[in-house]
Amino acid sequence: MAESPQEKFVVLESDAVVVGGGLSGTTAAIHLARSGFRVICIEPRTEFANTVGESLDWSAPDLLANLGLPMEDLISAEAATWKRHITVVDDGGGRREYLPGAWLAESPWNVEIRTLHLDRDRTDARLRETARQLGVTTLHERVADFAILDESNPRSRRVLGLRTAQGTFVRGSWFIDASGGDASLLGRRFGLKSVAYGPRKVAIWSHVFTKQWVEGTTLYMISPPGEYMEWIWEIPIRPEVSSIGYIASGWSVKRQRAGGHGTPQILERQCHRFPRLREIVDESGLPEVGTTTFLCRTYEQVCGTNWVIIGEAASQSDPITGNGVTAALRHADEASALISKYRHRGTIPAFARAVYNLRVSAVGRFFNSLIEKLFYQPTLRDRLGLFGTARIYTVPAWLMNLIYTRTRPRGSFGRTLALAWLMTAVRAVTWAAFRTATVFFGDPAIQSARRSISRSERIYAL
Ligand SMILES: Cc1cc2nc3c(=O)[nH]c(=O)nc-3n(C[C@H](O)[C@H](O)[C@H](O)COP(=O)(O)OP(=O)(O)OC[C@H]3O[C@@H](n4cnc5c(N)ncnc54)[C@H](O)[C@@H]3O)c2cc1C
Repeated sequence: MAESPQEKFVVLESDAVVVGGGLSGTTAAIHLARSGFRVICIEPRTEFANTVGESLDWSAPDLLANLGLPMEDLISAEAATWKRHITVVDDGGGRREYLPGAWLAESPWNVEIRTLHLDRDRTDARLRETARQLGVTTLHERVADFAILDESNPRSRRVLGLRTAQGTFVRGSWFIDASGGDASLLGRRFGLKSVAYGPRKVAIWSHVFTKQWVEGTTLYMISPPGEYMEWIWEIPIRPEVSSIGYIASGWSVKRQRAGGHGTPQILERQCHRFPRLREIVDESGLPEVGTTTFLCRTYEQVCGTNWVIIGEAASQSDPITGNGVTAALRHADEASALISKYRHRGTIPAFARAVYNLRVSAVGRFFNSLIEKLFYQPTLRDRLGLFGTARIYTVPAWLMNLIYTRTRPRGSFGRTLALAWLMTAVRAVTWAAFRTATVFFGDPAIQSARRSISRSERIYAL
């Protein structure tokens, strides 16, 4: 560490600088440190608690195993539970279970059909410890700005360093922005284009002690005809502790707040709609209620000469897709592989950047577009029924993840292009069905749901 004589701030230097020590940032720091980089990770928080992002899809366990966290280990450390099924419950008391068929685990398919729920506080702590053991330096400060060379030229601009609010200047050869969906530091700094799906939403959750504990994710849907959907998750994160959370549009929560309800009361009132949740909540209460807002948004051009954007800073997916953790782990893996590959050249070539951009954009838009048009909006859901919609969504969502895992598109233009094309085709079919249903079956209730969403939220984006 050297004190700059002219300026009053501290200057640090590293090979790679990771902004944000959440899941994607810590993972990228681990990969880079394993490849021999000196890594500084900048994360303002020193305490991590009540973390969400707990129900994994079927691709995440392999990615965690690569980080030294195989499924059996996480289970025996009580940092995870088995996700044996997904149950969808409607507000009329109906329920259906969804899980991949057992035959998929057999030859010739040999698909891993087991997956997990994570206790994120415990799992993330283990990853941070791994990063520390690998020599990653964590600086508990907040990044305020970047020093950019050739800023006006999107093709050649380079990040030279960054400045924290506490007055530290960090120089590096490579930069990863893992600052999360809210901050999205480089996306905002460069004014990158993005595509958003649906309105800004609010999540309210608590980790509840309960004896009524089942090893599966349960999604409780609040989906009256003609209305924008809301839902509640119940996820067992470790023995006798379940995460329970409510997701709704910002305007719905605003309306409830205007009715005099505080954040914990909103969660409690919504849980009271479902007998099982009512019982759990009445028995155990809702300790330490967390809340956040988010907008499902995917940025374009998330990779530059010496910088890469990963995780939710690159693409925020709706929690119901269960793809956020997989995306964070994949982005971190792929971004650090790119940096390692072009380490000696000092610049990621334009072609390699385009391939990374295409993958991030195709996957982010695929999940958000389908979930918005099939579930949240009433247009198709009212016609297909909630359980029919769930089946229609689950098949392509699960298949695309499987194809991604099997084809390993990282570094291959051909496989990335094929995957992106497939995902765009499914999105286009969904978009066409949605638009057709809107034209043919538009009714006052649907119109009113639509009016509640502002134009700028671009709900009709393909
Ligand atoms: C309510 C909710 C439920 C979810 N449920 C699921 C689920 O069931 N399954 C699933 O797969 N995914 C889920 N997700 C998504 C998943 O949690 C995320 O995709 C994943 O944790 C992303 O991690 P990240 O590292 O990209 O971002 P974050 O975890 O947000 O990390 C960003 C980090 O950057 C830091 N930071 C911010 N600003 C600065 C700054 N200026 N300087 C330095 N550091 C900064 C922050 O402190 C933070 O630690 C859910 C998300 C939400 C919001």
